[in-house]
Amino acid sequence: MTQALKELTSMRVGGVPASITVCNTREELITKTQEIWSTSEDWISLGGGTNLIFSEDVSNLHVIQIKTSGIEKTKLDGKQVWKIQAGVDWDQLVAESVAAGLAGIEGMSGIPGTCGAAPVQNIGAYGQELSDVFLRAEFLDYESGELVILEPRDLKFGYRDSAIKRGRSGIITWIELELIDLEGLSRPLYSGQIAGALNSEMGKHVSLKDVRDSVLKLRAAKGMVLDSADPNSVSCGSFFTNPIVSDTFARTISSDAPKWETQEDDGLTVKLSAAWLIEQAGIGKGFSLAGSNAAISSKHALAIVNKGGATGEQIAELARYIQERVAAKFGINLVPEPNLIGFNV
Ligand SMILES: Cc1cc2nc3c(=O)[nH]c(=O)nc-3n(C[C@H](O)[C@H](O)[C@H](O)COP(=O)(O)OP(=O)(O)OC[C@H]3O[C@@H](n4cnc5c(N)ncnc54)[C@H](O)[C@@H]3O)c2cc1C
Repeated sequence: MTQALKELTSMRVGGVPASITVCNTREELITKTQEIWSTSEDWISLGGGTNLIFSEDVSNLHVIQIKTSGIEKTKLDGKQVWKIQAGVDWDQLVAESVAAGLAGIEGMSGIPGTCGAAPVQNIGAYGQELSDVFLRAEFLDYESGELVILEPRDLKFGYRDSAIKRGRSGIITWIELELIDLEGLSRPLYSGQIAGALNSEMGKHVSLKDVRDSVLKLRAAKGMVLDSADPNSVSCGSFFTNPIVSDTFARTISSDAPKWETQEDDGLTVKLSAAWLIEQAGIGKGFSLAGSNAAISSKHALAIVNKGGATGEQIAELARYIQERVAAKFGINLVPEPNLIGFNV
């Protein structure tokens, strides 16, 4: 009996797919994927299921579940290069890097999911992004059916974005990252929130372990670590990306709004806080539509949670309601961060 996808995703929604093929080794991942592709039927790769929301009707979908393991650690010309199989748990990787005294990903402690999915939306938190340390990945390309090596220029990383997220289809089998040996210290502090929590200052080096501990604590306070005791973590984390708008447009938004200047190809832009926009549009923490089991997290306005028994449709309905309210008040179209399969959002 094939499992329902609600049992394999952090949002706990989704029906029973046509099949689930579990891949435990890289070789299995390649051969079984090629077999599925040769049928020309609909397929999707599944890592930890922490950024995927499936509808109830997925009966045509073949799921490739990636459970490969193994980390190869090498020192090349003084550089610490780690090659990580796609199915490795991301936070386990961060814990190992911190224990080894290597800097580069400690600020991304507690992000759930697998290492193979990390480049897909260029995961990031507290001033660090995967692209800061990413060297290359092996990719089974759906178009050619061949294994290719993808470098940063191929992946075209952006904020919570990459060429894969924009539609380049295939499967990452492993990723290679370069970590830095600063004798147990972090990079110069890159996040005001972490600096504040550690009574330190931006630009200072602090112990990797202290950064990891403080990030995990900050995240837990927002329901942003998977925790079976916290109903707010039955989610996909942030549901919308922070919108990036022109400097001119940003000036039309209240001066109380959190704003961060960013430099894009087309000049100075401003990143706005999606959580702030949602709250200002009158949708507060804990909000729920009448009769729905989907709600805004009671800890963070940017997360949609399944209060228990929600359907994918109810999650999508709340997402659309938020988009409409924010668009009506600010003229901004919030873009969902998770991958929605079988919905119109
Ligand atoms: C509580 C919570 C907090 C979160 N906080 C953050 C955060 O701070 N920052 C952040 O960036 N994200 C965050 N997320 C989102 C999520 O953790 C990341 O997007 C993560 O990388 C998803 O990994 P996964 O293995 O669960 O991917 P899945 O949900 O299984 O898949 C996500 C997408 O990647 C594709 N995919 C999966 N594996 C592969 C592969 N090997 N090759 C190619 N494509 C693949 C899938 O088909 C799907 O399109 C959070 C999620 C939750 C639930």
